[in-house]
Order: sequence, then C-alpha cells, then structure tokens
Amino acid sequence: KKASIGVTGLAVMGRNLARNLARHGHTVALHNRSEQRTRDLVEEFGSEGDFIPAYSAREFVDALERPRQVVVMVKAGAPTDAVIEEFAPLLEPGDVIVDAGNAHFADTRRREAALRERGLHFVGTGVSGGEEGALHGPSIMPGGSKESYESLGPLLEDISAKVDGTPCCAHIGPDGAGHFVKMVHNGIEYADMQLIAESFDLLRGALGYEPAQIAEVFRTWNTGRLGSYLIEITAEVLAHTDAATGRPFVDVVLDQAEQKGTGRWTVQIGLDLGVPITGIAEATFARSLSGHADLRAAANGLAGPSRSPLTGSDAERFADDVEQALYASKVVAYAQGFNQIQAGSAEYDWNIDLGSVASLWRGGCIIRAKFLDDVSAAFGAEPGLPTLLTSGDFRKAVEDAQDSWRSVVSTAVRLGIPTPGFSTALAYYDALRADRLPAALVQGQRDYFGAHTYRRVDTEGTFHTEWAAEGRPEHKS
Ligand code: NDP
Repeated sequence: KKASIGVTGLAVMGRNLARNLARHGHTVALHNRSEQRTRDLVEEFGSEGDFIPAYSAREFVDALERPRQVVVMVKAGAPTDAVIEEFAPLLEPGDVIVDAGNAHFADTRRREAALRERGLHFVGTGVSGGEEGALHGPSIMPGGSKESYESLGPLLEDISAKVDGTPCCAHIGPDGAGHFVKMVHNGIEYADMQLIAESFDLLRGALGYEPAQIAEVFRTWNTGRLGSYLIEITAEVLAHTDAATGRPFVDVVLDQAEQKGTGRWTVQIGLDLGVPITGIAEATFARSLSGHADLRAAANGLAGPSRSPLTGSDAERFADDVEQALYASKVVAYAQGFNQIQAGSAEYDWNIDLGSVASLWRGGCIIRAKFLDDVSAAFGAEPGLPTLLTSGDFRKAVEDAQDSWRSVVSTAVRLGIPTPGFSTALAYYDALRADRLPAALVQGQRDYFGAHTYRRVDTEGTFHTEWAAEGRPEHKS
C-alpha cells in the first residue's frame, strides 16, 4: 500500500501534522534528516494509524501515490531550500511540494516560480495553532495553483479545525498568498496580545488589582463579545501562581518580550505596500522596546506623574471602559490587517476572499475568536468593504465605545501608563474620520524646502509656490 501524503521534517510540528493525518485514516509516509525522529514517531505513535517510515529521500518518494504530495515541515529559510532541492529531482510533473513552515511569502513566490518551471506544484501554506493545533486541528492557509488544491485540499480540510462544521482551511490564492495571509495573521496576533497586555497593565495601574483579580475580569470578558482563545489563556496565565516563590507567575517573568520575526515582516511589508498597520507596528515596537534592557535601565529614573489610582465612580466603571477600549482597538487592528491583505492581493493579483480568510481564522489558530464570525459576515456581505470600521455592527460598536475609549486613553496618559496599542488605534480612528488632516501643512513644508509640489482643493493639477518671490502659486502640470 502506498501513502496518500508524506511529511518530511518530524520535529514538533511535522510530527503532529503526520499524526493528525494518520488519525484521519490517511496513510502517511514519514521522513526526517536524522533518522531517530522517524523511528521515535513510529515507536511512540505507530498505533495511531498507517505510517510508512522512510530512511532516504528515494524511499520516501517511492512510498507515495501519484500525484505525490510531500509536506515539508522544517526550519524556515535555507533548510527549506535544501529540502526542496533534495526532493524536487526525484519528483515527476504534477507532483506537489507543500511548504507548511513559516516561510516569507517572497521566498514562496520564488520557490513556486522555480518549481513551476520544472512541472511541479508548490504550495506554500500557513499553518497556525502551534503544536496542539497541528495535532488536533490547525487553521490552514494554502496558497498555490487551483489544480494542486484539488488533490491536496480535501486532505488539509480533513485535518483542519472545524467551526460549525466548516473547515478552517480554504484555498487562499496563487503562489505566496497563503504565506502572506499567515504573516498578517501573526501580525494581528501581535496587536491582539499587546492590547490585552495593556488592558492588564491599566487594570493593575489604575485600580491596583492583583493578577488573580484581573484574571477574573478576563474570564468575564471571555463570556462576551471579546470571547477568544487569547483572552482565555490570558486569564489562565494571570491566575497562575509560581510554585517556587508563591508569587503571581506574571511577576516572576522577565518583562522582555521576544519575537521570531513574523510581526517584523508584517510591518516591513506594510511599509512597502503603503498600508498604515499602526496597531501591528506599535505592538512589534512594544516588544522591541521591552527588550532594550540597557535603555530602560538608563531611563528608569525619569520623572513621571504622581500616580493616584482611580476612586469612586471612575474606578467602578473603569473595567467596563477598558473592555470597550479593548474591543474598539481590536476592531481597528483587524481593520488594518485586512486592509493589508487587500493591498497584497491587489499587488500580486491573488484575488483573496477576505470573508473566507476571516472564516478560516475562526478555529484552530491563535487569534480564533467569536469576533471573526462577524468579520467574516461583514466581508461576505460586502467583499469590497473599504474598512471594517464602516461596516454596520462594527461601526455602531466602535462609535458606542468611543467615550470609554477616550477616557481610558486619557487616564493612561494622566497616570503615565504606556498604552501604545490603545493610543494608536484611537489616533487612527480619529485620523480616518477627520474632515481635514494636517497633511496639508506637510505638503506645504515639502513644497517650501524641496519644491515637491502640491495639489489644491479647488483646482485640478499640480502646483508649486515660488516661496522666495511673492509666495505665488505656479501651475506645474
Ligand atoms: P524547527 O523549526 O525546530 O525545525 C526542526 C526540523 O527541521 C527538524 O526536523 C530538522 O531535522 C529539520 N531541519 C533543520 N535544518 C535542516 C536541513 N538543513 N535539512 C533538513 N532538515 C532540516 O521545527 P518545528 O516543528 O518547530 O517547526 C517546523 C516549521 O513550522 C518551521 O518553519 C516553523 O517556523 C513552523 N511553525 C512552527 C510552529 C510552532 O509552534 N513551532 C507553528 C507554526 C509553524 P533534524 O531532526 O534532522 O535536525
């Protein structure tokens, strides 16, 4: 019997994907650079389904039905290229190589073009949900040709998470589309986490709550519109006591956030495409700032406001205000992320269905949330929606939240609690809805020092003012 799919790269992610496939009744060929991982998998989990272990690339390829489907789950970057080069020469036209690692979408575009020349399909796919997701049902974002999805799609849908019976997996679009969408997913994840962290900091700083009390607040929020995996695990983390010291766990963790780099990619590409993803950018910079230990130590004595925590009715309503601010800021972060997907889709002709993206993020992945049902419905109803902020229910929710949102940001400023996520989200909202922006003045400055020209509100064309002369506008084109 041959295998319907094979997995090469059997570290945590590959091993769990292979087990997930086998548990769904698929025969899975197994391969890993070092043989021990293959042996361990078969020894520990061989009873879970049909595995065909292979100890050479040739053996692995020969174990597969045609068209062969080879899932590569190795370290992103050079190792992925090395593994592709190892297998591609052994494959035949029509076979499919799937890169399920965290590749940069530009690498995926390059690999796809090169393999297409050789008659092979290359599917760069985002997989979210970590180790647990890979085993029990991840959210899967495959790119590549429509044709490759015909054979591969049913397998991937089978092992993906399901929400209301719908698989959290759908064909995203050609070449790099899947990895692009996964990248933005990760960027949104950074923004979401930062906003939640700021909420914690505010509840502690302004109300003097202990982590365990804040865990209760998050548990309550989790039963409402903020209900999500990230809010749920936040409550768990905050409620956790460090066994060694008996102190709240969050107080014994070094406060320097790390990152593997996908947030940075999202911001870099946001800049390249000219999409203002300020929430993701601030979240990425907030992690970076936290890690600058020397800078923080040097600045540690700088004066701040005297902190008088909130009292009376201000204190009573503060947690609700923070909930409103968190919800509104989250809508902004998602609105920006979806704008980035729209921009990528337009730039690379991917024709991505935003409603479908929101739908497949509803389960399996780190940002899974009730909220995404509404996002999916919003884009489903209006695929060309310019921004989530103007879509029916979101518009109303954010408008209703704005008083609380402003009050939370001003309290944060008054007490000296840094809230870059909340603040930038509110600034974005106010900038988008403004009749006029001071960009007009920036254009004036640019024209003054660099003759960069400007356009006028009352006449078509491009103008430059002779500043040294009488300051008279001159029509340029
Ligand atoms: P790692 O990223 O730690 O990679 C280890 C695997 O890569 C091993 O199988 C290793 O083989 C193989 N490998 C490394 N270099 C080479 C090489 N030059 N040639 C052949 N094989 C090589 O594994 P993970 O399971 O954590 O992640 C796999 C991929 O999935 C990565 O791209 C990661 O970014 C992505 N991902 C990870 C998530 C997670 O939660 N961990 C979530 C979503 C995606 P050997 O055993 O021989 O050393």
